[in-house]
Amino acid sequence: MRAPLSAIQERFDILPDSRRFPVYDAGCRRCGRLATFLDEVRTAHPTYFCRPVPPFGAAGARLVIVGLAPGLHGANASGRPFTGDHAGILLYGTLHAYGYGSQPQGAATGDGLVLTDCRITNAVKCLPPANKPLPAEIRACNDYLAADLATVPDGGAIVALGRIAHEATLKALACGKATFAHGAEHRLDRGIVLVDSYHCSRYNTNTRRLTPEMFRSVFDAVARHLGRDGFAAPPARGGAPVP
Ligand code: URA
Repeated sequence: MRAPLSAIQERFDILPDSRRFPVYDAGCRRCGRLATFLDEVRTAHPTYFCRPVPPFGAAGARLVIVGLAPGLHGANASGRPFTGDHAGILLYGTLHAYGYGSQPQGAATGDGLVLTDCRITNAVKCLPPANKPLPAEIRACNDYLAADLATVPDGGAIVALGRIAHEATLKALACGKATFAHGAEHRLDRGIVLVDSYHCSRYNTNTRRLTPEMFRSVFDAVARHLGRDGFAAPPARGGAPVP
C-alpha cells in the first residue's frame, strides 16, 4: 500500500521552509501533462514512487544542489533525487569525496546515505516525459524550488546542474539575469554564491563534456566559498574510484 502523503512529508524532512512559498506537496497535480504521465508510469511500475520527488538532506544545509528533474527508473522510482539515476554516480561520489556524503554511492533509498550540510533538490519535482520539462512546467514548479532555496543560510552556496537549473534558481531567488557557464560563480544576495556546472548526466559524462575533474573544480569553488578547503577531493586511488 502506498504511504499516506503526510508520512512521505515527515520521512523526507519537509519543513515549513518558508511562509512565503508553498512547501513540497507530494500530492501536487499542477501540471496536467506531468500528473497524467506519472499516473501512466505508476500503472506500468506499481512499486515506483511516482510522485513529486522531495529534496534530500536537511533544510538549512549550507550547500544546495539543484538538478533538473527525476529520472524514470532512478529518482522517480526511489523517491530520492539522483538515487538510482546514472547522474547520481558522479554526484554522490563527488559529494562523498568532499565530505558531504556518508558513502560514495546513493543507488537506493534505505542505503543509509546521510548528507551533511548539503541538500539536493530539482528544478522540476515530477518526472517529465523524455527527461524534458516544458517551460510552463519549470515555471509552475518554481515556487517549490523557491521554498527549498529559502532554507539556504546567509553565505551559503548553490550548485546549479545545467542551464535549466541555473535559470530556475535565479527565478526562484528573484535575482535577475546571469549567464550560465560551467564553473561560473555568481554572487547573489545574502552572500550566497551560485556555482554553475554542466549537468552530470549520462550523456555529458559519456561524451566527456563533463569530466570528473571539471565536476570537482565546481566543488572546489564551493569549498573555497564555504571555507571548507580541507575537504578538497584527493585524486582517485585504488578501491572504489572517485568518479
Ligand atoms: N535525477 C534527478 O533527481 N535529477 C536530475 O537532474 C537527474 C537525475
